[in-house]
Amino acid sequence: MKTWIAEVISVGDELVSGQRLDTNAQWISQQLNELGIRTAFHSTVGDNLDLSQTVFRNAAARADIVVCTGGLGPTADDLTREVIARTAGVPLERRDEVVAHIRQMYRIRNREMPLSNLVQADFPAGATVIDNPEGTAPGIDFTFLPAAGHHRQCRIFALPGVPAELKQMWSLSVRPALQRMTGASSVIVHRTLHVFGEGESKIESMLPDLVARGNDPVTGITASAATITLRVSASGTNGAECEEKIAPVLNTIRERLGDLVYGADGQTLADVVIGKLKQRGQTLAVIDAGLHGDVASALAVADHDRSVLRNAILPAAQSFATYCDPQNGAHGIPPLQNAAARIKDQSNADFGIAIGPLNRDPGKIERGEATFDVTAIKVGSDGEVFTSDDRYVYRGHSSWRQQRAVKQVLNQLRFMIG
Ligand code: ATP
Ligand code: MG
Repeated sequence: MKTWIAEVISVGDELVSGQRLDTNAQWISQQLNELGIRTAFHSTVGDNLDLSQTVFRNAAARADIVVCTGGLGPTADDLTREVIARTAGVPLERRDEVVAHIRQMYRIRNREMPLSNLVQADFPAGATVIDNPEGTAPGIDFTFLPAAGHHRQCRIFALPGVPAELKQMWSLSVRPALQRMTGASSVIVHRTLHVFGEGESKIESMLPDLVARGNDPVTGITASAATITLRVSASGTNGAECEEKIAPVLNTIRERLGDLVYGADGQTLADVVIGKLKQRGQTLAVIDAGLHGDVASALAVADHDRSVLRNAILPAAQSFATYCDPQNGAHGIPPLQNAAARIKDQSNADFGIAIGPLNRDPGKIERGEATFDVTAIKVGSDGEVFTSDDRYVYRGHSSWRQQRAVKQVLNQLRFMIG
């Protein structure tokens, strides 16, 4: 199977100056990937004729497919038409059918068409027009023939920068054209597994032969707020063939990582906890003195029909002390277990979770020394009491340590539920 190499070019001063984030390149690369086309390069260039020509010349020499966005408007800084024509050494020609389309768009909007808009009907000789049903600027489908200095043929699709317009044109015209060009049959399927409890490098070291380059299927690893995601991607002529390639890799990962793997294909820890409890018709109540209710929020988001999370309270210090006071519960029970048992009984739930206060000394938090305790409790049908007690260190970068702490609690619950 031929490997198609693509380059995505984004044109605009607002992109290179940092005023606007280039989301088009990300979206287009994802779309190309779905078609089995590998994006090897992203190039971004300002609205400048000479610099743009350099970028387009390079792309034509190293890619089979180029998708470019921006610079198709009617103003003087919209140069993409001219850049393509100059790079290919062909003249620009005005297309009557495009002139008619642009006039029509202005008629529909009841506005007078500035004459300058007609430049949007100029196309490099030999180009095919890509219809833009909801905008004035059509796209350009142009093939650079092999030339001195490069031997490839390169097909370029130039689309407007406006995301909604380019997405519509992609679905209507560019994607079908690319499917015809590449043989249509190639598809890519992705499956993901989510892991919690070890760092990225540890996980990678447990899968040394998998997270390597050039495999088919390819296994990629990413980390986000202490969750590690393994994405296995395979290409083939149809979905079933891809699934068949992916299945043994998923099995190997599950075997090696055991219960570090908590879910798949977008599941969160809260989804897993709620899912298990829902399956068994069991319920849960939370008392949270340390994590601002974020554990309960995560559970509530996953509990779509509100059948599992019975109760969640964020007690003031004094009231939390009352919950913990063994005087108010069975004797001989440690304070946090007492709080978990009380919230469970009070809410008539099957499980109770108590999250103890976090030591709020900022110095301790910054040094990664602050801790909090968590107890989960359930009472079996024969009255036997099961508890799970853990102490966690509240540490990590300030942007994600709270999320990590929440996940630690949810992960503890996952194991307790079993
Ligand atoms: P128009 O006909 O609207 O002028 P154009 O092809 O000239 O289209 P630009 O003028 O470069 O496109 O961009 C139009 C708008 O599209 C920009 O103001 C910006 O909001 C958005 N845009 C352009 N490029 C990108 C990009 N790479 N990522 C995200 N948004 C973009
Ligand atoms: Mg413009």
